[in-house]
Order: sequence, then C-alpha cells, then structure tokens
Amino acid sequence: MTNNKFDFTKINDDCIKCGKCKPVCTIFNINQDETTSPRGFIDLLGAYKEDKLNLDLNAKNIFESCFLCTNCVEVCPNDLPVDMIIEQVRFDIAKKFGISWYKRFFFFLLKHRKIMDLMSTLGWVFQTCALKLDDNKQSAIPRFSLPIVKKNRALPYANKISFLNKYPQNIKALKKENNKTKKNKVAIFIGCMSNYTYTNTGDALVTILKKLNLDIMIPKKQLCCAAPAYFTGAFNSVDYLIKKNIEYFETWIDDVDAVLIPEATCSAMINQDWEHYLHNQIQWQKRAKALSSKMFMATKWLENNSNLVSLLQKSNKKFDELVTYHDPCHAKKMQGIWKEPRNLLKQNYVLTEMSDSNRCCGFGGLTMQTEKYELARAAGLPKATMIKQTKAQIVSAECSACRMQITNSLYISNVDVKFQNPIELIAKALD
Ligand code: SF4
Ligand code: SF4
Repeated sequence: MTNNKFDFTKINDDCIKCGKCKPVCTIFNINQDETTSPRGFIDLLGAYKEDKLNLDLNAKNIFESCFLCTNCVEVCPNDLPVDMIIEQVRFDIAKKFGISWYKRFFFFLLKHRKIMDLMSTLGWVFQTCALKLDDNKQSAIPRFSLPIVKKNRALPYANKISFLNKYPQNIKALKKENNKTKKNKVAIFIGCMSNYTYTNTGDALVTILKKLNLDIMIPKKQLCCAAPAYFTGAFNSVDYLIKKNIEYFETWIDDVDAVLIPEATCSAMINQDWEHYLHNQIQWQKRAKALSSKMFMATKWLENNSNLVSLLQKSNKKFDELVTYHDPCHAKKMQGIWKEPRNLLKQNYVLTEMSDSNRCCGFGGLTMQTEKYELARAAGLPKATMIKQTKAQIVSAECSACRMQITNSLYISNVDVKFQNPIELIAKALD
C-alpha cells in the first residue's frame, strides 16, 4: 500500500530554484528559514530519495511543519506538487516513528461511527467541567490546560445530538417539480466537524434544500472523508475510510442528482485526494472517479444548478451587516471555488474584501493543532488582523477547519467578529 506516486528526484530536478514560492509559504513566513520553505522541502526530499538524508527526528519535525496550504503550488511556474510530496513522506515518517496514541484513538473513532457518537454524547454531558462555552461564537475556552490542548485558546465543542442522528434518512419535498430529466433529489455529505460541532451548517443546508423543493437524502452510514488521516500519513485508516465510503455511496448514488458537501476540505479530499491516494489501485480509483462526478461543494452546486439566486433576490431579507469572505485553501486553490459563495452572499448581505482573502488561515491539520500549535497560532494572527481591518461583523468561509482556526485567531487577538458558514447566512436570508 506504499504510495509512491511522486519521484522526489525528478521533482527536485524540475525545481528551478526560482524562489517564487517562498514569499507565499505559510511556514516560511513564520520561520524565515530556507529549510522549511517549499524549495527547502524539495531539496531535502531529493536528498532523502538518494539516501543522503536520514529520516531522523529533526527531518520529521521539518516535514511536519508544512501547513499543506498549496500556496506554493499556486505560484510555482512548474506546478510542482509540494503538498502532495509532503503527504507522501509523512507516510514514511508514520511507518518509521509510529503514530501518537491520541491520533490512533481519533482515527479509530473516525472508523467507528457509533463509538464516536457515544464519545460525542459523553463530551456534551461533561464538557462544561473542562470548558467555558460561548454559544454565540460557537466556541469553548478550556478552564485549565489539557494533556494535548493548552488553555488560552478557543475550541469547538460537542452538540447534544449529531447532524446525522437528528434527521431521518429521507426528507420529502413538500411540492416537487415535475422535471423528468432530473431526480430532484440531493444527498448531503456533512463532514465530521459539522456533524458533531457546527451542526447548524447542516441544519441550514436542509432549510435551503427544502426551500428549493428538493427531496433530501441524509446517508446515515457515511464515514469521515479520511482527510485528517491522509494529512498525518496514517494510510491504513485512509484506505479503510475511502473504500468503506465508496462501497456505501455506490449503493445509492444513482438515486440522487448530486451530493452536496458544505465543507471545502472534505470536498477536495473526496474529489481529488481519493484519486491521488488510489493511484496504484486502478479499479478503486475508477470507482472513486465515477462518484466524484456527482460530488460538489454546496455553494458551487447551488449556484450553478438551482434557482437559489433568484429566491435570494426575491427575498425581503436584506441585511446591513458587513460580511468578509475568507477563501479556504481547499476551495479556491484546490477546486477553483471562490465566486460562487460570494455571488450567493452578495444578494442579501454587504460584502467587503479583506486585504488577502487567499492567505492560509493556518489550520494545518491535526499535528499542527496539537503538537505544533504555536505554529498554527502564529500563522493565524495576520488573518485576524486583516479581518479586523475590514470592520466586518461576520467572517465567512465554507470550511469548518477554517472556522475553528479563525475563531481561535479572533479570540486570541481580541477581535469581536463572528464566524458563520455561507450556507448558514444564505438560509437566514431566505423568506
Ligand atoms: S504547502 Fe504551504 S506551508 Fe507547505 S510548503 Fe507549500 S506554501 Fe509552504
Ligand atoms: S516556485 Fe516552484 S520551481 Fe520555483 S523554487 Fe519554488 S518549488 Fe522550485
């Protein structure tokens, strides 16, 4: 199952060392060190391939400091896939050093939905012992430092009931359009964070789909898209989650027009990284590709395939609140999605642009949010500053990882701006 999609030597040879990637690199902007820059990573991986670099703890530390933001890929004249070669070497790192107990436990939960549901419910019952909740900002402040998470930061918290457990599997439209070329039915892939923490994103998507008179399917046995495991190099968990999802999706995909995903990272993982991961398992790769033709980020599908814009235009709800939109790396850079959420939002809200909406928020994944939190913290502060400068009351992005990171950056910078997924704002604007 070793994933040798990329030849590190060839990529090192293809790197013309122009340095265009350095000024945009999230980790280089923190460290100002060539070793932790895209060009430096490529050099080191070339040396590793030729047995001139030992994969020791120092090298592990270096390769784990990349945020996988793809800023470098966007500007590289040779389109060198720095993020994907880092993902590849993280598999070698995981094989050599093993995976920390808490990550293995987390990936175990991602593979076992019922146990995760139970843990989430227990979390909901006991979380106020350890966390001070802020319902308005949907965040929680630890009362004391926890083993993996230090205090003085804002975290998401568990909801009483998960999105998947809250609704029936099928919700019928009240008035169904008589369009014989379509099924007028869509499914929702919700993603783990919106399933357990930011459940109002899923509620809002259900509201919108009801207004559009579409039948809704909420596939109960969907599992995590595998992104957290993929970014950590835990490829056994990746293999399990992708294949279980493919087998399950294939049992109902022909019944729906599309699967909507209100999460940039899950959407990019399913639509792109599943195929990358399965590059040496051709039959599975074909099956993933067939599914991906029906999987869309929610705003993209809603803007291009429904009459939502016209419903929003007809709505009497026009808000004065200023909204600024942050472009998740997995939406704009990986999937080219940035116009769609703005076009939907601008029908009922006043939009204002921050100075660099494309700059990575600094979430960086599981390792970055735990063992390397100081890097995530440093990467998040400039984003909080540029949000403050807009004077917006709301910051929006179609991504729960960005939501968690930006909410924390705003908290530690003492900036009073609320984060809402565009899907929530759109649902609020419908009559
Ligand atoms: S993916 Fe982001 S953090 Fe990693 S090397 Fe590229 S620009 Fe830097
Ligand atoms: S922009 Fe591309 S070619 Fe230039 S140094 Fe960076 S990785 Fe190499």
